Amino acid sequence: MNTVNTQAQSCEVLIIGAGPAGLSAAKAAASGGAQVVVLDDNPQSGGQIWRGGPFADLPAVALDLQRAVAERANIRLLPSAKVVGMLDARTVLVETDTAAIRLHWRTLIVCSGARERLLPFPGWTLPGVTGAGGLQALIKGGLPVQGQRIVIAGSGPLLFAVAATARKAGAQVLLVAEQVSLARVGRFARKLPLWPSKLLQAVQLRDGAYRTSSTVLSVQGADQVASVTVRQGSRTVTLDCERVAVGYGLVPNTALAQALGCGVHTEEGVHAITVDAQQATTQNGIFAAGECTGIGGCERAMAQGSIAGFAAIGEPHLARAYEKDRRYWSAFAAHTNACFALDASLKDLPAPDTLVCRCEDVSHQTLQRYSSWLEAKIHSRCGMGACQGKVCGTAAQFLYGWQMPEARLPFTTARIGTLAVADNA
Ligand SMILES: Cc1cc2nc3c(=O)[nH]c(=O)nc-3n(C[C@H](O)[C@H](O)[C@H](O)COP(=O)(O)OP(=O)(O)OC[C@H]3O[C@@H](n4cnc5c(N)ncnc54)[C@H](O)[C@@H]3O)c2cc1C
Repeated sequence: MNTVNTQAQSCEVLIIGAGPAGLSAAKAAASGGAQVVVLDDNPQSGGQIWRGGPFADLPAVALDLQRAVAERANIRLLPSAKVVGMLDARTVLVETDTAAIRLHWRTLIVCSGARERLLPFPGWTLPGVTGAGGLQALIKGGLPVQGQRIVIAGSGPLLFAVAATARKAGAQVLLVAEQVSLARVGRFARKLPLWPSKLLQAVQLRDGAYRTSSTVLSVQGADQVASVTVRQGSRTVTLDCERVAVGYGLVPNTALAQALGCGVHTEEGVHAITVDAQQATTQNGIFAAGECTGIGGCERAMAQGSIAGFAAIGEPHLARAYEKDRRYWSAFAAHTNACFALDASLKDLPAPDTLVCRCEDVSHQTLQRYSSWLEAKIHSRCGMGACQGKVCGTAAQFLYGWQMPEARLPFTTARIGTLAVADNA
């Protein structure tokens, strides 16, 4: 076994996740002088929306927040750092590129964000098919799409942002396929004047290729995407293209908080971390903010992060200034989530031989034999591959109504030397 660089570190406030919520929490928590550590498994701070890269174009609010965090001597950013497990009630095991760290904290703020929901359909494992947000992340990271014909599909306002990113990078966006009806999108749009900045964004991002009641049925190709078949209302169309990007909204990342004993509730059929008005979870000393507490967008994540940061250092009165913002953006989130709820007909998308677990090659018909995630996992290895159930577990929840068990150590793939630290703890 390689020699392990093992370190023991401690801080007053540990923040897991350096997205809009985590950075806002760090700025607030550090304002009183507390020693704050913010860790993130990405190499740069910013989370999903402010992801850096050669083609990333960060807004002023992101740059200001990143600068404010970088300038504070009592905030330490730990990039490329993943939480592998818990060593005791106040110590997590963290793996970085070079070390295994026992990180002891007094107060914890979980800002673990959300991931994209991918639903299986015939052809979804072909090279050239990605999530919608996934394609956006790849383009920001430098993926060339100049001149490529792309179909973007799934559900929610994120599709507009992805189409805009793809067009800016020189792609030809043939179609933006939204699963909900025109009536639902109309209902969404009619209330937008209540949130003028979102109305402006909607006007700026409007896309002539946008179609409602449209769902990707299948992707065809020998060893790469060649065409996509889409149901548009009562008709079916097939389009030749090089890429297909499909994302059915976001799902809160709650596994870490659940493993820490934090309570969750169900929103839109998936778990979200339960928090009170101070963003405190059901576990003493643990707060949570941002999309891990429910899908609510960047602005709400920032307001929640600020409230959690002040509450974590025992200054809840300073958090009051952000409560109005949180209310305002929570109302927007509720409206958006209601208008873009997933249609049950999406459960019919996979064919019997469509792979649901693409890491371990487990098909829809195989999984239909089982009655729970645990049973499926034991008998078929579903969820035991590289994604550790993040993709197929989320799909199985939607397709079969299964609940996911709590995460156990290790929460993620880790070096054997890191696991040895856990064994010796
Ligand atoms: C793929 C994708 C693309 C998106 N694109 C847009 C967009 O274009 N426009 C828009 O308005 N909204 C977009 N969103 C939504 C937007 O990301 C959120 O509204 C906002 O970023 C939420 O902020 P957050 O801080 O709660 O979470 P996030 O921004 O998701 O940040 C959470 C961070 O925590 C890290 N993390 C999670 N678990 C761990 C762990 N165990 N150890 C270490 N680090 C961890 C993650 O890597 C991530 O960096 C996107 C979301 C996704 C998933």
